Amino acid sequence: MNTVTNSALAARDLRHVWHPCTQMKDHERLPPIAVRRAQGVWIEDFDGRRYLDAISSWWVNLFGHAHPGINAAVSAQLQQFEHVMLAGFTHEPAIALAEELARIAPPGLTRCFYADNGSSAIEVALKMSFHFWQNRGRRRKRRFVTLSNSYHGETLGALAVGNVELYKHTYAPLLMDVLTVPSPDCYERESGESWADCSRRRFALMEAALERHADDVAAVIVEPLVQCAGGMRMYDPIYLSLLRSACNRFGVHLIADEVAVGFGRTGTMFACEQAGISPDFLCLSKGLTGGYLPLSAVLTGDDVYGAFYDEYQAQRAFLHSHSYTGNALACAAARATLGIFAGAPVLEDNRRLAAHLAERLAPLAAHPHVAEVRQTGLIAAVEFVRDRSTREPWPWQERRGLIVHRHALERGVLLRPLGNVVYFMPPYVITPAEIDLMVQVAAEGIERACA
Ligand SMILES: *Cc1c(COP(=O)(O)O)cnc(C)c1O
Repeated sequence: MNTVTNSALAARDLRHVWHPCTQMKDHERLPPIAVRRAQGVWIEDFDGRRYLDAISSWWVNLFGHAHPGINAAVSAQLQQFEHVMLAGFTHEPAIALAEELARIAPPGLTRCFYADNGSSAIEVALKMSFHFWQNRGRRRKRRFVTLSNSYHGETLGALAVGNVELYKHTYAPLLMDVLTVPSPDCYERESGESWADCSRRRFALMEAALERHADDVAAVIVEPLVQCAGGMRMYDPIYLSLLRSACNRFGVHLIADEVAVGFGRTGTMFACEQAGISPDFLCLSKGLTGGYLPLSAVLTGDDVYGAFYDEYQAQRAFLHSHSYTGNALACAAARATLGIFAGAPVLEDNRRLAAHLAERLAPLAAHPHVAEVRQTGLIAAVEFVRDRSTREPWPWQERRGLIVHRHALERGVLLRPLGNVVYFMPPYVITPAEIDLMVQVAAEGIERACA
């Protein structure tokens, strides 16, 4: 009998597959793990080992792997058809999903433009905002304002409005010029300062930038409440309320990138809800299909839509497309995912899980090498440092996060720290006992990494 093993698959893999966000030489020492199957929060490999997916497979999986309801919805769609181009044609999955998104999104976001991943959603929003102002005769409005430490994806436009040096630095000569404003990151708050006060203080810098540059600025782009790829840095909703009113005052669009934080992650369906605001563009992806298939959506309002609506000869149309726009299988997965929210008290359950996670993480806050434990909904992070009193970080070259990663794999948990930030972003179907395991293993890993 032919038994497939991890190492056999890893050897084949390394002959041809180039992995994302990876220095391939690292695989000489830590080969990729071959997945045989996955169910709920557990991933199983070919050597019979299991891993708790504590990071939802890069933040996409909401309700666990191989979810029966989503499986059934994708299968049912597969019996009808798999994909038909969305220009000139339409189909129920795309229509019903747009209806549902418009229903649950913050008020006024009535129009849904599909793309196929988070980065392309960002490209769509940037192009639409710029193009809106062109169509309205405001030709100078062509710059974007972004926050320091923000992340919006890897394509050149998305990379340009992002600010994580690790990903951006090499490509800087290729990127459009943007205005970068210090983020409201509450890790940087002064002693005794509340999150709200810190966010409010930082907002003054945003307001000054907008006041100065409004005539040249098309939009401000932010990740509401949590800068995820930037190390799960968090801020207070007050920043978003202040930003919304300033954007109104200065005539600048607000793009909310909820690619990572949308769909219940932060405690509300969308993070913007916590500030009671509607952005001009809402970018959604990752959890949209429950982690099944690549799909993204950019929601906007009738005002933006109207600026493009004209006779063809007026040359105002938004002529952007991707081959797989509105893919029917992906839309079916997304509808099934949203159906789970409609049929169960997901947000309430998440609040209980978040409270349990907070309780389990609390003791880590006193660890001699932990500078901060922070949490927003079902995103939690532990920032470990060399010196707690000065917050001096471990040198990045030492790659101590990798020690945590490797320790966790040995113990059957998938953690993938961002530098020296160990974070948790589990599927919503995780149990309290599994949370205990995840936190226990992370604490052991931090202990080892700081030894
Ligand atoms: C992951 C991410 C993106 C990019 O999405 P991809 O599907 O990886 O292209 C954009 N914005 C945020 C906030 C993200 O976390």
